[in-house]
Amino acid sequence: MGKASRDKRDIYYRKAKEEGWRARSAFKLLQIDEEFNIFKGVKRVVDLCAAPGSWSQVLSRKLYLPAKLSSDSKDHDLPLIVAIDLQPMAPIEGVIQVQGDITNARTAEVVIRHFDGCKADLVVCDGAPDVTGLHDMDEFVQSQLILAGLTIVTHILKNGGKFIAKIFRGKDTSLLYCQLKLFFTEVTLAKPKSSRNSSIEAFAVCENYSPPEGFNEKDLHRLLEKVGSPSGADDLDCSSGWLEGANKVYIPFLACGDLSGYDSDRSYPLPKAADGTYKSLDPVQPPIDPPYKRALEMKKASNHGFQNHP
Ligand code: SAM
Repeated sequence: MGKASRDKRDIYYRKAKEEGWRARSAFKLLQIDEEFNIFKGVKRVVDLCAAPGSWSQVLSRKLYLPAKLSSDSKDHDLPLIVAIDLQPMAPIEGVIQVQGDITNARTAEVVIRHFDGCKADLVVCDGAPDVTGLHDMDEFVQSQLILAGLTIVTHILKNGGKFIAKIFRGKDTSLLYCQLKLFFTEVTLAKPKSSRNSSIEAFAVCENYSPPEGFNEKDLHRLLEKVGSPSGADDLDCSSGWLEGANKVYIPFLACGDLSGYDSDRSYPLPKAADGTYKSLDPVQPPIDPPYKRALEMKKASNHGFQNHP
């Protein structure tokens, strides 16, 4: 698919380039904020699985840059944004980058060090493993990534804080919802307008972090496993009916973003310049060291070889 045809078929991809976002995902976080006001009062934030960096850009533009421009802001008042990813990321103003694995227990320690021992007001996680196309498998791997995110949350989020995490909707959504509900008084599954209807992706918006009384971070996995077992659900004060079939589970689900705005599953005509042509923009910031880079180099090398030795 050429750049222009992608611009036509994916309005958010085109808009992202026009507005200087590194990825169309920026609109998802912006639309979640429109509905849930997630940035209100936020001074410390962690962006898990941040590369290539469009959510970090949103955090920088919404939190860091306005504070920096405000005349009464001192350096020590500026919001702290820490972004973590397996992949390296090009710099973003006001964003501290950590290259690391969110499933590694030491990642939380690194973040805490950057916050000088203080806790975060908000943690966002747009993590996604490489999708296989096998929905059950993808949903499982995605849920492991969310649980890794939740582990970090239990170490670094302050009471009352928020956690936004990408999920894949599937048969275990009610279990995941129940697990998140143990730690947050409000959990809503949100589908931003910029996330394609055809995609099983949605976002868990978890508000008001309040872990169970006497909770010890070391017990997290034991606690989560109990939610999945029929007897354990009662112990944890989850109504036992929740886990007995999809119809008995009530999960708040909300479409967000301007509902009369652009539809991410539709094609839109391209805006033409005065001379009647359309000029496609280059991506704002391609990944600087993506895992597929070596494969591309090898393919290029083998193509050359083919031309040299017909
Ligand atoms: N939010 C990003 C943005 O707006 O640019 C897009 C995130 S992208 C959809 C998913 C990211 O998850 C990838 O960059 C990938 O490297 C990262 N990721 C997947 N597993 C990870 C892990 N275990 N630890 C850290 N990052 C991970």
